Amino acid sequence: MEILKHDLLIIGSGIAGLRAAAQAAYTAKIDIAIISKVQVMRSHSVSAEGGMSAVLYPDKNNDSLDLHAYDTIKGSDYLADQDAVELLVRMAPLEVRYLERIGVPWSRHPDGRIYQRPFGGMSVPRTTFAADKTGFFIMSTLWQETLRFDNIKYYHEHFVTKLIIENGEFRGVTAIDLKTGELKLILAKAAIIATGGAGRLYRFTTTAHSTTGEMLGYAMRAGLALKDMEFVQWHPTALVPSGILVSEAARGEGGYLVNKEGERFMKRYAPQKMELAPRDIVSRAILTEIAEGRGFVHEESGMGYVGLDLRHLGEEVLNQKIPFIRELAHKYAGVDALSELIPVRPAVHYTMGGIHTDTYGRVLTPSGEWVKGLWAAGEAASVSVHGANRLGSNSLSECSVWGRLTGEQAAKYAMEAPAPSTDEKYIKIAQEEESRIFDKLLHKETNGISVYELKGRLQDTMEQHYGPFRHESTMKEGIPKLLKIREDFSRIRIEDGSRIYNQNLKDALELDGMIDVALAVAYGALARQESRGAHYRLDYPKRDDVNWLKHTLAYFVGGQLQLSYVPVRITKWTKFEERKY
Ligand SMILES: Cc1cc2nc3c(=O)[nH]c(=O)nc-3n(C[C@H](O)[C@H](O)[C@H](O)COP(=O)(O)OP(=O)(O)OC[C@H]3O[C@@H](n4cnc5c(N)ncnc54)[C@H](O)[C@@H]3O)c2cc1C
Repeated sequence: MEILKHDLLIIGSGIAGLRAAAQAAYTAKIDIAIISKVQVMRSHSVSAEGGMSAVLYPDKNNDSLDLHAYDTIKGSDYLADQDAVELLVRMAPLEVRYLERIGVPWSRHPDGRIYQRPFGGMSVPRTTFAADKTGFFIMSTLWQETLRFDNIKYYHEHFVTKLIIENGEFRGVTAIDLKTGELKLILAKAAIIATGGAGRLYRFTTTAHSTTGEMLGYAMRAGLALKDMEFVQWHPTALVPSGILVSEAARGEGGYLVNKEGERFMKRYAPQKMELAPRDIVSRAILTEIAEGRGFVHEESGMGYVGLDLRHLGEEVLNQKIPFIRELAHKYAGVDALSELIPVRPAVHYTMGGIHTDTYGRVLTPSGEWVKGLWAAGEAASVSVHGANRLGSNSLSECSVWGRLTGEQAAKYAMEAPAPSTDEKYIKIAQEEESRIFDKLLHKETNGISVYELKGRLQDTMEQHYGPFRHESTMKEGIPKLLKIREDFSRIRIEDGSRIYNQNLKDALELDGMIDVALAVAYGALARQESRGAHYRLDYPKRDDVNWLKHTLAYFVGGQLQLSYVPVRITKWTKFEERKY
């Protein structure tokens, strides 16, 4: 078994991971490694479309840092930690300018100013973008930037199977080199977890196939806590029937939503903001229209949907501001957005919860102590700036800001920390992991359960029991189904018996972690007896600040999932209004 050592290990090569690597390299001449289960440019961040929020021109746009913070906190249904939000809005403009300096081609006004468009829940236009391929441009620029440093090493297509944490300190990970099937022990002084969200817990989702979130499950197994996992975001406009995202940029540029009667129905749900109300509100409005018979029905899939109308925007706006949307609608739904409605309905899009950290991204135990040497950033982390509902375009800002913050802190820490220990016990842990995976999981069980059948059952259970409209009775029925899926995992069948590029094995390892994450969502949702942001309960339709203005923590004690709660950090936004838009 190969044993490798680095000063700093960054797990994940999306925007958060790459930004962290760049900042660590600016901070210290240390040995940095980035590990990713996919090649860098296949990380989910590449598919981000609409843009990145930041206050760039307060005078011209009538904007301010306080207004951005207020929009984010109100959008979060008051569950965001306000000190973290203040940090986000203060640093986001610096990050937009940093990304510009290293080469991101932001879309611009003719006078050279960076263009900003309106986005849902934002009071003024503050979403900075590069056409509707923002993630692609940020990723390719950050990748290029990290390649300048000879002290950054990439482990592409290496799948992390376990976090090794001992006596409250990070020690290392085990990872499979997917190309060879070799298990490696990678020890490091410090690490940043930047492994993204868990959208694939659900079947109808806009997220990449790799956005499975197993690391969140592995984190719980390593004794860490997940925060606010019951808050799952549905994006209002996914293409029917594929689930491919039609970015909010389409509505930001002036697109309408219409039901089959041709009515702009958002006037009944959010009369002021209309289509640019926050995503939880627009998603529930669309689903209500469909449920009450005012939606269209997709012939082949039977899916209900509404129409996204871009026809009035004209060819120039479509081709210059949102060309990708026009292309996707044409390729995957067979419609020309210039003359036809685009068929859309809500799909799972984002994980508001994540690994429990403090404001600076330091990973905390369930009882609130820092796990020395460990940080988390991006969608995998819950710092928490999005609370119960994320505003569109705040995620790329979060990834960049906390990539920078964690990269700098971890590099400074690694400079001072002693070399990683190569004690025999870590080798033993890795050998046990190798045996768990290659002797026990990769066995030749011929009549076991298919990975894909079990994953399908997991996704269907999540769709049916923990969707956008929740109720105690349906959620209670979902728990035994999830527990049965957990039990059935021990009889999983892996058909590919080889070690080389064994996708079947990788899918099983993902599913293993996903089941635990699903349980955290389910138990958190069942326990929270109120409606807040994306967590909407038919049996408790109102927000309850007296009993539920608090974060949920989910973690394992003796193999059993437990919940506890920690307070929301409030700074100066103390008036918890009803969210009307
Ligand atoms: C279609 C779409 C469009 C979006 N558009 C926008 C937008 O315009 N603006 C906005 O603000 N937000 C947007 N979002 C949200 C935003 O894209 C994501 O929140 C953000 O890109 C997440 O970045 P990340 O760096 O945290 O993780 P990711 O980009 O998801 O990267 C995760 C990394 O972790 C690695 N990894 C995961 N598990 C393992 C493992 N077990 N072993 C090794 N490596 C592992 C992966 O290989 C990958 O490199 C969009 C989301 C979707 C679905």
